[in-house]
Amino acid sequence: MNEIFKKIKQNDLTIIAGPCAVESEQMIFSIAEKIKEAGVHILRGGAFKMRTSVHDFQGLGKEGIKMLRAAADKYNLPIISEIVDVRDMELFCEWVDIIQVGMRNMYNYPLLRALGKTEKPVLIKRGMGATLEEYLKAVEYVEQGGNRQIILCERGVRGFDVATRNILDVGAIALLKKGSGYPVFADPSHAAGRTDIVPQLCYSAVAAGADGISIEVHENNEKALSDGAQAVDIETLKKIIKTMKKIKEIKEV
Ligand code: PEP
Ligand code: MN
Repeated sequence: MNEIFKKIKQNDLTIIAGPCAVESEQMIFSIAEKIKEAGVHILRGGAFKMRTSVHDFQGLGKEGIKMLRAAADKYNLPIISEIVDVRDMELFCEWVDIIQVGMRNMYNYPLLRALGKTEKPVLIKRGMGATLEEYLKAVEYVEQGGNRQIILCERGVRGFDVATRNILDVGAIALLKKGSGYPVFADPSHAAGRTDIVPQLCYSAVAAGADGISIEVHENNEKALSDGAQAVDIETLKKIIKTMKKIKEIKEV
């Protein structure tokens, strides 16, 4: 078993943090340094972005992946980044430690099949309209290729209320923990869509049994090229981590 996946299985709570997208070398090195100091385990950063609008920032591509790698290596952190196209598989296998499948690609079965043939841990996000049954069936596409290093991630499902971007399904976290045998993560940033309630969603995910949390962080979120409205700053991240650890200590939860 891959060392990083082994650690995730052993850890009580694994923390992934970083920007939605890698925007520049300076930005990712600065965030990597600060999140390392905050006790984060894995650096995240998108280089290939699945933006709703084709006019929005699409990511730095291969250069972004290389920047993420260089920043993480400097601070001794593993990296996770999202693959959007099966044709990038070789690039991801060479440069990235954990490959993320975003919610839009949960139904991309050729991509999932190809990931099943790799030896990389794969974090698969639940589609925003996917039932748990559909989600676990998507996971089977990776399993069937022989790759069992799978991390599940609840990132919010679509609701009717625009007050939040999505609805964090804490019941799903609890159910996936019961049945799947895989580490279950939560992504409160994409569920909230707004910075102010990211801490509370982190705490509820941990209380529901999450094994890990993925949080978007930015040092100047007004200038962020994607998802600035939901990014927390480093000080908030530190507070979130401290409180999540306390909640994790309550074994009865
Ligand atoms: C992301 O992690 O930046 C992302 C795009 O996530 P999702 O696929 O959950 O929207
Ligand atoms: Mn994002």
